[in-house]
Amino acid sequence: MIKYLFVTGGVLSGLGKGITSASIGLLLQSRGIKITAIKIDPYLNCDAGTMNPYQHGEVFVLADGGEVDMDLGSYERFLNIDLTSEHNITTGKVYQRVIEKERQGRYLGQTVQIIPHATDEIQSMIKRVGEASGAEVVIIELGGTVGDIESMPFLEAARQMRQELGPEACVFVHTTLVPVVQVVGEQKTKPTQHSVRELRAIGIQPDVIVGRSHQPLQEATRRKIALFCDVPPEAVISAPDAELIYQVPSIFQEQGLTDYLLQRLQLHPGSRDLTEWKAYLTAALHPSRQLQVALVGKYTALNDSYVSYAEALAHAGAALGLRAEIRWIEAEDFSEDDLSGVQGLIVPVGFGRRGSEGMIRAIHYARTHALPFLGICYGFQLAVIEFARYQLGMKGANSTEFEAEASPPVIDLMPEQAGLSRLGATMRLGAQPVRIARGTEAYRLYGQTEIEERHRHRYEVNPKYIKQLEAGGLHFSGKSLDGRRMEIAEIPDHPFFIASQFHPEFLSRPTHPRPLFLGFLRACLGCDAAA
Ligand code: GLN
Repeated sequence: MIKYLFVTGGVLSGLGKGITSASIGLLLQSRGIKITAIKIDPYLNCDAGTMNPYQHGEVFVLADGGEVDMDLGSYERFLNIDLTSEHNITTGKVYQRVIEKERQGRYLGQTVQIIPHATDEIQSMIKRVGEASGAEVVIIELGGTVGDIESMPFLEAARQMRQELGPEACVFVHTTLVPVVQVVGEQKTKPTQHSVRELRAIGIQPDVIVGRSHQPLQEATRRKIALFCDVPPEAVISAPDAELIYQVPSIFQEQGLTDYLLQRLQLHPGSRDLTEWKAYLTAALHPSRQLQVALVGKYTALNDSYVSYAEALAHAGAALGLRAEIRWIEAEDFSEDDLSGVQGLIVPVGFGRRGSEGMIRAIHYARTHALPFLGICYGFQLAVIEFARYQLGMKGANSTEFEAEASPPVIDLMPEQAGLSRLGATMRLGAQPVRIARGTEAYRLYGQTEIEERHRHRYEVNPKYIKQLEAGGLHFSGKSLDGRRMEIAEIPDHPFFIASQFHPEFLSRPTHPRPLFLGFLRACLGCDAAA
């Protein structure tokens, strides 16, 4: 029988429910239990693909091409599993299915309503994921805050599931904030009490309460929360600020959360094994060197826009015994001085014209000053434009994404994208194979001639200019299997100048760093040593 563990949030958003869910998953997984995870986003968008990163942070891309909430990135990284787009349930997806069924006549004769039709659909979507994944425990993180109107149908569906399956098959973990009022210096439990009351009004009694606070919860705070919220004191878990998110599982573990949950869920686990994880954590916490890497992007005001880059750098850094600090630079205001003292440059994902010229200037500096450079997707396309303009003298080179009449249009819309009338889920998405040429830097890094990486783009290197770019010294070392689509560009006589049309950051896991990030940081180290 599959068990379900719901993670809800109270008081305010941004309390780290995603990390809480992923950490609980990891702890259960470390006891030999097969885990999967679902994120529920109560917004009306069908997926995150059409949202600006400033709305909800980075859009994470899955192997099947799902454009999903960034919490799925945390699940994949913590649990080292591959998820599908079915693991991100949104109100849009639920309603779309219900309305489609209504049109098919599947509810013939009935009034179609949120309860029971939408709530039944939510339950069947959750259960289907559980069954398809073969997991013993499905962790379901409910986005938003208890009390939000848009979360109501999901909470109601969860309540019904507990009623149907019983308390040993359905557990609720509630995450709240425990603030300290500066003047008094006391940890305040009232917001927690209120949010639990809100949850109970819906018919849900939490089994575990995770209290977020700067400092660990004091014993008196723990007891007070237990008393007022009707849970045993050992079910009140302290979640103080951590230096690294990857410390959170151990923080929970030390408070006995794993054993408590195992007993509540009546699971009979194997012995504990967190060896690999702990080795990563030790390396990440005790780097022997520090580097600074510039990330010139257009959504830098919100670091969540680039979570997977920061993670990929952290994972590769730990493997090399170093910590790469990121200097966030807003592309629109870029000036060369912004790069002073950094050992490398990353130009990441992006859409639209804003910021593109600043990023091209940054790439130009890196190319002409032997500064290690890693360009990703948009960064890859801008590197091609920079090269065409300043190395090959094609002054008007640009992407037709920013300039319809670009001359020459070295980056152009992929032919299959022309004439699309819908923008949702229509980019070239997900895992795609790439063939790597032997004898190149890309081959040295991957050690393979065929790899798979995740994609998300509409534009590509215009096939008309490939010959000219290659003749000028920009080497396309990775291509699609049919050889038509350029996937990796590199400049051989540069310490490290590599750009990829794909997104290596999405496949980086703490214990499995990605080759392009490893190569980049190694080059940054070399550059540091030479300085
Ligand atoms: N805007 C570019 C494209 O659509 C790059 C996308 C990206 O960086 N993911 O091709």
